[in-house]
Amino acid sequence: MKAIAIFGGTFNPIHYGHLAVAEEIRTKFNLDKVIFVPTNLPPHKNPVDLVSARQRWLMTNMATVSNPCFEVSSFEIDSGGKSYAVDTIKHFREHFGDNVKIYFIVGADMLIDIAAWKNIGEILKMCRFIAVSRPGYDIQKIFNQYFLGAKNASLASELMENALVEEVSMIDISSTVIRQRVKEWKSIKYMVPEAVEQFIHNHQLYL
Ligand code: ATP
Ligand code: MG
Repeated sequence: MKAIAIFGGTFNPIHYGHLAVAEEIRTKFNLDKVIFVPTNLPPHKNPVDLVSARQRWLMTNMATVSNPCFEVSSFEIDSGGKSYAVDTIKHFREHFGDNVKIYFIVGADMLIDIAAWKNIGEILKMCRFIAVSRPGYDIQKIFNQYFLGAKNASLASELMENALVEEVSMIDISSTVIRQRVKEWKSIKYMVPEAVEQFIHNHQLYL
C-alpha cells in the first residue's frame, strides 16, 4: 500500500458526480484505494432532508461495490455526533502508519471554508488535499481568494503547499438536485447508480 485517498461527504445520496471524481483521481494519482467516509452529522451544514446514517452508508456501499479500489468506512457514523475531518484523518493515519500517502478529496465548494476547519493545522501535517473542480465554482479563483487572501499568512502558505488543484471532467450533479427531483417525481435515472435509485424509491426517501 503506497497511497490512498479519503473522500468524505454527506452522500445524501451518493451520485455519479462523486463516483466519477473518485475514479478519475484514483487513476491520476495511482492510488491503491479511495475510501468513502459518509459523515454522521456534518459540522458545517444544516441537515435538511438528511436520511439516516445507515441509509446513506448502505447507498454508498451499493454504489461502490463494483469497484475493487473503492471502500466505504463507517468510522464517522460509528463515532457518532458531529463529524470532523481531523478525527477521521487521524484515524486513518494511525491505521495505515506513516509510510502511506494520504490524500483528502474535496470539491471546489468545500475549499471555500477549509481554512476554518477544526484543527486545520494538524490536518495539514497528516495529509494533502486534492481540490477538484466542480461546475459552478471557479476553483482557481477560490484558491486565490481564500488561501492567498487568508488572514493567517502561515496557514495560507501551508494550505497552498498542501493542496493540489485538479481539473476533473465536470459532472453537474449534486445531491441537492437529486433530492429536489425526487420530491417533484422527476427521474433520477443515470444520475445515481441503479441500485441507489431503486433504494430511494423502495424506501420512499426524499419525498
Ligand atoms: P449536497 O448538495 O447535499 O451538498 P453534494 O452533491 O455536494 O450534496 P456532498 O456529499 O456534499 O455532495 O459532497 C461530498 C464531496 O464531494 C464534497 O467534497 C463535494 O464538494 C464533492 N462533490 C459532490 N458532487 C460533486 C461534483 N459533481 N463534482 C465535483 N465534486 C463533487
Ligand atoms: Mg455538498
